[in-house]
Amino acid sequence: MLDKFNRKITYARISLTEKCNLKCKYCMPQNGCKIHINELSDKEVENIVKALLDEGIEKIRFTGGEPLMRKNVLPLLKRICSFAPIDWAITTNGTTLKHDALTLKKAGIKHINISLDTLDDEDYNTLTGGSLKSALDGLESALDAGFETTRINAVLMRGISEKQIESLAKFTLKHNVDVRFIELMPIGGCAKWSKEYLLKADKVLEIMPELKISTQDTNAPAKYYKLPDAKGRVGIITPMSCNFCSDCNRIRITADGKIKPCLHSDIEVNLTDVLHNYDLLRKRIKYAVNIKPERHYLNENQFIMRNMSQIGG
Ligand code: SAM
Ligand code: SF4
Repeated sequence: MLDKFNRKITYARISLTEKCNLKCKYCMPQNGCKIHINELSDKEVENIVKALLDEGIEKIRFTGGEPLMRKNVLPLLKRICSFAPIDWAITTNGTTLKHDALTLKKAGIKHINISLDTLDDEDYNTLTGGSLKSALDGLESALDAGFETTRINAVLMRGISEKQIESLAKFTLKHNVDVRFIELMPIGGCAKWSKEYLLKADKVLEIMPELKISTQDTNAPAKYYKLPDAKGRVGIITPMSCNFCSDCNRIRITADGKIKPCLHSDIEVNLTDVLHNYDLLRKRIKYAVNIKPERHYLNENQFIMRNMSQIGG
């Protein structure tokens, strides 16, 4: 599918649930996040995936909330991954991977992103409400399971990340993983908190000048670097300080059945009335692609209503 700015849309991110077992400060408002939705049924998710595949989507990432908190998610993913041999991927906080990693791999998931912002027990618990040990155990199980790609996503936060950048980046010395530092985005009910903690991605290179530019993935918003003799790469993702909209190849589907053609826009296209009519479903997807905004306006104080947990990152 081509949008009206001639960008080829080949990548879809599907949120499987808004539920989460953590409560990260930049993602879920601490004063409560109303889970307001009618979650798509398994059949409806499957219909959407089939339509996306027929429209030429080549990569699908499952996200959430925490995707692994969805009821019966593992058999659902196994069925979906059998539809076509494309790049099936998942983003997870990793806390249940000790039990789920191998099943996910066997189901057909090829790429896994694990969110891990800090290796400090106390900071992890303050930021997420969860236990660092469960995330680290999960990461270890993911590495053992042998996905094609395993990546760590770390959100950059002023006063918290500076002392973590080196130890997280050094993870790439021993392991064939990409560690990606992501600039905090002020979104939804967490926007005020996020604005206070913004830390520009330049900080990573300032703290680790030994990082040398490595290959650039096409269509990926990350710039990649490497430490000398490292097995993996260090990525830097700069949605705030650098605008990569002109290369954007993705759309998002929320757990309540809306297409978001752009992460940073409140434009949504409802799918719920066409989920059981395949032709209309495909038409609606094409319509959403056609109205994808040219760029985001985050730096011009654009405000996004949904929380990140209601979009999927
Ligand atoms: N629960 C899963 C997880 O944490 O990986 C998947 C959903 S989470 C919304 C997807 C990604 O969005 C995570 O890597 C998380 O760190 C990132 N994220 C959430 N809120 C963010 C924000 N305000 N700015 C930047 N990244 C954010
Ligand atoms: Fe949950 Fe992921 Fe959001 Fe953290 S970032 S609250 S783990 S959805």
